[in-house]
Amino acid sequence: MRERHTPVLIVGGGGSGLAASIFLSDMGIESILVERHFTTSPQPKAHIINGRTMEILARHGLAEEIYRQGSPPEKSSAMVWLTSLGGDAPYDRQVLHRADAYGGGQSAVRYAAACGHRHGNLGQRWLEPLLRAHAEERDPSTVLFGHETIGLVQDDEGVLATVRDRAAGEFHHVRADYLIAADGGKTIGPALGVEMVGTPTLLEWVNLHVHADFSPFMAHDDAIVNRVCSLDEETGRFLHCGVVPMGPKRWGRHSEAWTLMFARPPGSAKGSELDDAAVEHLVRKTLKLPGDHPMRIESISRWPVEGTVADRFSVGRVFLAGDAAHRHPPSGALGLNTGVHDVHNLCWKLAAVLTGTAPAALLNSYAAERRPVARQVVERALYSLFNQIAMTGGTGVVEGAAPAWNRSQYAALFADTADGRTRRAVLREYFDTNRITTEHLGLEMGYDYADAGYVLSDGTERPEADPLGLEYRQCARPGHRMPHTWLSRAGRLTATHELIEPGRFLLITSGRAGEWREAADRHGYEMVVVDVGSEFADPGGAWANLRGHEDGGALLVRPDGFVAGRFDPITDPWSALAQGFRTALAAD
Ligand SMILES: Cc1cc2nc3c(=O)[nH]c(=O)nc-3n(C[C@H](O)[C@H](O)[C@H](O)COP(=O)(O)OP(=O)(O)OC[C@H]3O[C@@H](n4cnc5c(N)ncnc54)[C@H](O)[C@@H]3O)c2cc1C
Repeated sequence: MRERHTPVLIVGGGGSGLAASIFLSDMGIESILVERHFTTSPQPKAHIINGRTMEILARHGLAEEIYRQGSPPEKSSAMVWLTSLGGDAPYDRQVLHRADAYGGGQSAVRYAAACGHRHGNLGQRWLEPLLRAHAEERDPSTVLFGHETIGLVQDDEGVLATVRDRAAGEFHHVRADYLIAADGGKTIGPALGVEMVGTPTLLEWVNLHVHADFSPFMAHDDAIVNRVCSLDEETGRFLHCGVVPMGPKRWGRHSEAWTLMFARPPGSAKGSELDDAAVEHLVRKTLKLPGDHPMRIESISRWPVEGTVADRFSVGRVFLAGDAAHRHPPSGALGLNTGVHDVHNLCWKLAAVLTGTAPAALLNSYAAERRPVARQVVERALYSLFNQIAMTGGTGVVEGAAPAWNRSQYAALFADTADGRTRRAVLREYFDTNRITTEHLGLEMGYDYADAGYVLSDGTERPEADPLGLEYRQCARPGHRMPHTWLSRAGRLTATHELIEPGRFLLITSGRAGEWREAADRHGYEMVVVDVGSEFADPGGAWANLRGHEDGGALLVRPDGFVAGRFDPITDPWSALAQGFRTALAAD
């Protein structure tokens, strides 16, 4: 059997695998990616690419293209709750609530203070081809679609995978030093005995990709997600459906494509309850779409939603990332984003080990750092999903009450009476206490690796985090994401994260630059050294407020943008850096 060797074999050409291929290439590390399908996924699925992910992708030249292809910001800044699209009951076609979402509207200032990049909004169906094109542009011979990993053995020396070329019907071996399992958990984890721990399938999620003109039914043009919550006349029960604009040319209420999504109890996908005809009927009924309103269904997919985390993130030389390592409901839009953050954490470490900069022990830090983050993400996605259900309590409609009672309650909510105004005020309170369903800045940016053991602790306490996960307090404590702010040089503003180059440490000094630079040079690591004061100006003193050390000190930042060490001015910068590197590279 033909055999190829590669430092890293990536199994899976979804968002996580393709991002890993790009990250490794940009650090000069060869890889082979195998994806069993011939094309990227045709499903729109994930669409919100949060600011942290955009900040990461920007370092690899992808951000502008994503913004260009995706929704303009003013068309993706709110979450809107509607009672229906059509229908003529007194409670139909009403807006229950509108809230700024994902850094839009009034929250834009807070988000912009935290990150140099706003979120992107581009369905996975369009994002994945873009990632694939970038991966192939770097080396087309190493991105193999239509190739499936069907077997795997590993020993102390490496991994040997059997790969089937589906077009040629041939088998070959790939021998790799390391393997990234970005296969959504389909093959590699189960083959290695990895177990997904947590809440098994709790819902059957149904996605429809449709083409329709919904603009006559919508007043808002800025919704990133519309949530329809309509009352079934016969049963008096709520029917829910997410209506998500997907562009791809026009956005907002004038989108040509949409994702419609709803959930059903586990097991309902098995019988005819969720066959294609039933799904279309249910969606039209939920939206109360006029029977003759054109809607072309391109595809229907069913997705079992669970809330689970892999019991191990690595087995020998195999590392699990993305949905292979954690699976949860789409609430919070954290799935694809967390997968990209996983491989961003992993790839610089693989590069450091493969180039001999760090010992293999550094790779133990991947599970130590990422698994706690994944657990937090899964818990939060589950919690915020159930919290959305709680909001319907504010409508006065009671699950299981007589249909006539529920119809009267829903109508009373919109009546132009003192009672109606009271009901709407109460409902607003329900929504206002549920901002965790529309904002997640603290969760997206605020996780840290301080306790995992791979950064140089300076003995300071972790600042208290916002328990709601809304607010993000920037902090330069070792283990936290380097604070974002704007520095200036020759009249041009540069975000602190723009100083990071793939695979290289960053040393930001605040005076005594010569001494730090000389110490850095003596270490001989791939490192970018910049001084705020002589090279870059600090407009308004924002960096001085955030950096958490005295003039003449420095911040050592890992290639993934997390602080490895924070130093006040010291007599021996070389020793300080040596200690920082030893810890960050697990060389102790
Ligand atoms: C309705 C919906 C909405 C969502 N919304 C969001 C959102 O707004 N934001 C967000 O961040 N996330 C969202 N998600 C979640 C997101 O889609 C997933 O988290 C994401 O696709 C995971 O990416 P991945 O690359 O880890 O895995 P996958 O996308 O599952 O990719 C795995 C790939 O591996 C391939 N593969 C499997 N086994 C093999 C093998 N043996 N050999 C070769 N190839 C193999 C598969 O074919 C597949 O292409 C949403 C999901 C759904 C369903």
